Amino acid sequence: MTSTPAYQLTDNPKNPQPANGGQACGKVYDTIKPDNRLSIEKSAPGRRALKFKGRLKHTAPPVPEAMKRKTSPRLPELSEFDTVRHFTRLSKINFSVDSHFYPLGSCTMKYNPRVNEDVAALDGFAGLHPLASDETAQGTLECLYDLQNRLCELCGMDAITLQPAAGAHSEFTGLLVAQAYFAHKGQKDRVEIIVPDSAHGTNPATASMLGFSPININSGPDGRVDLEVLKRHLGAKTAVVMLTVPNTLGIFESGIESIARMAHEAGALVYMDGANFNALIGLVKPGELGVDIMHLNMHKTFSTPHGGGGPGAGAIAVKKHLDAYLPVPIIKKEEDRFLADFNRPLSVGRVKAFFGNTGVLLKAYTYMLMHSARELGQIAENAIINANYAKALLKDSYPAHSKEHCMHECVLTPGPEMTAQGIKTLDIAKRLLDYGFHAPTVYFPLIVHEAIMIEPTETETRETIDEFAAAMKKISVEAVSDPQKVKDAPHTMPVKRLDEVQAARQPNLRW
Ligand SMILES: *Cc1c(COP(=O)(O)O)cnc(C)c1O
Repeated sequence: MTSTPAYQLTDNPKNPQPANGGQACGKVYDTIKPDNRLSIEKSAPGRRALKFKGRLKHTAPPVPEAMKRKTSPRLPELSEFDTVRHFTRLSKINFSVDSHFYPLGSCTMKYNPRVNEDVAALDGFAGLHPLASDETAQGTLECLYDLQNRLCELCGMDAITLQPAAGAHSEFTGLLVAQAYFAHKGQKDRVEIIVPDSAHGTNPATASMLGFSPININSGPDGRVDLEVLKRHLGAKTAVVMLTVPNTLGIFESGIESIARMAHEAGALVYMDGANFNALIGLVKPGELGVDIMHLNMHKTFSTPHGGGGPGAGAIAVKKHLDAYLPVPIIKKEEDRFLADFNRPLSVGRVKAFFGNTGVLLKAYTYMLMHSARELGQIAENAIINANYAKALLKDSYPAHSKEHCMHECVLTPGPEMTAQGIKTLDIAKRLLDYGFHAPTVYFPLIVHEAIMIEPTETETRETIDEFAAAMKKISVEAVSDPQKVKDAPHTMPVKRLDEVQAARQPNLRW
């Protein structure tokens, strides 16, 4: 790995980033002329952008007469400038991680270095035919092979698949592997999956989808698994203990080694939801703590924020005893050639076409190669420092759910002087938009009343977190001096507060 830091780590005095925060973004919006017309409403007959001289040569096969439309499609007729301004305006009234601080907890909306996109878009990768033979796909296979090895090393695991399409799909694949393992051992009566209430919601959902019975256990007062409660539920029917680490309260499951020992003594496996591995990367190897199966969200830990719903990529890493059940193909190296290995008789089969979401995997690989081993550890350190910094700045107005240090995200709640005015978490989230900040995750985790979950991520500067905290504190003051203003927010956005009951009962889905 190279030793040059490829992106700006927090508080690097040699290369300070300008504080962007909301102010700059607010200004961008202010300079945009409000114009809610659709492009079709701006249309003028005959207006157009570009005229080609002569006719373009027809290459498409002719459409059968009966299927030809009788009237021309109603498309907007716009000048080139109208078109460019229309879409540029739309893009600017949107919040995005490139324009705004985006502290969504449990989502890791970190900066996605542009070089990731450049690499994934290289002709040799992007132009590769999905059915290309291994022989003609050696470069891509080599990258995936190297990525597999590096991830195994970081996780302290023995084998890995890069096939799953995202986090929830990884959980599905991981539990499918566990199911195949127990079936092969003749232990089909292991049908229960123990899930603490601090786990991500996808965990019990996945367990149910596969026909397991999720057994929900309550956390102790410190937000961690209560070992006594766990002990009562472990038994001959337990297939898997499924832990989210750090859990959805942003807390490290410090009893994980004891949990693993207890699970193994009961003959069960330990699954770790490692979607938020950016809190642990380079600092902790889950395999050394007794984890048998874990998944990674390549699109969270290794950049590529997924808030836009774009493609993700997951990976599940397992210990040796589960290797045989992983999906096909696994990328292997034989002598100096790379190949997709399908010859795995105990495999659960394919879970995704081709090699998985290769574009996202290549972005993750690029991100990883840009960092030395030490710098990967700094990702986790900075993610943790930033979350604890935000929590400390806000402690007077927004008490934290847990008094302990958090990992990469903190869970706060509106203070008593705010709730006394009837201010809800949703009001704070909406008011933040007026200050130019995307809202944090709200009402998650479900076990915290009026939760506000903030994940600054490691890629934000101290100044940005300061600005965000200042806006949050200002809202807590407004909540007392002018509560209605907070309840009616947002005031500066193109779309104001919606009547959510009306929207659900009488949705108006047309312009
Ligand atoms: C995001 C997340 C998931 C789900 O991942 P997707 O890629 O959105 O399917 C699962 N578990 C945890 C802890 C997460 O943060």
